[in-house]
Amino acid sequence: MFDTWRWATGNNLSPSVVLDKRDGKVKMLLYIFLPMIIVGLAQWKVRKAFKKYSQVPAERRMSGAQVAQSLLSENGIHDVEVEEVEGDLSDHYDPKDRKVRLSTQNYRSGSLAGLAIAAHEVGHAIQDAKGYFPLHIRTQVLPVASLGDKLGFPLIIAGMLFNVSGLLNWGILFFAAAVLFQVITLPVEFNASSRAMELLARGGYLLPEEVPGARKVLNAAAMTYVAATAASLMTLLHYVLLARGGDD
Ligand SMILES: [Zn+2]
Repeated sequence: MFDTWRWATGNNLSPSVVLDKRDGKVKMLLYIFLPMIIVGLAQWKVRKAFKKYSQVPAERRMSGAQVAQSLLSENGIHDVEVEEVEGDLSDHYDPKDRKVRLSTQNYRSGSLAGLAIAAHEVGHAIQDAKGYFPLHIRTQVLPVASLGDKLGFPLIIAGMLFNVSGLLNWGILFFAAAVLFQVITLPVEFNASSRAMELLARGGYLLPEEVPGARKVLNAAAMTYVAATAASLMTLLHYVLLARGGDD
């Protein structure tokens, strides 16, 4: 961090030092700014896709809530409730309370985007009911991962500030647990989306010509997970290199 400021201000450094600093600058760009840009782009793309397809009503004229309810019973799941939740794109499946929660817009309207998201959340409920293995692993890793999410970064910073490698290593280990959680999330998300598209098309909730629009929303959403995971992996690599190389 402090090095960044020095590169920006140090014009009178010797050539070899300049080369060193340039190397550091490239690393900073590669490990921190590039991932941030990719994550930002992915988030922008999902918002754009959602905005577009949340304004396209599906021919079937069913709300997201009705479709979710119908898909759940079609799949023999009768103990999961569909509930409305506040917030923007706050849709999720809660395995503990056994609830599919849909944000107001997706709950009430029957847009291509809304139906795609409702079916995706039902996809998670089906994974849960069928004991889909990656979801099970993900649930097991969750407590360690959320601890890692809270403790990883502070420990790494403390380790670097006070130059205590033990702290730094523990921080990296905690951070790695949080990254592992993100990696396991990928197959879970991809699988829920492919289940969703199959259910919507096969059940006639979407017409064949409506399928590509709905799929675009779910693909864009999946890309945000891929981008965030790639960014976290880069950050983890950055920390590991820092720990190994001392001052980098
Ligand atoms: Zn999901």
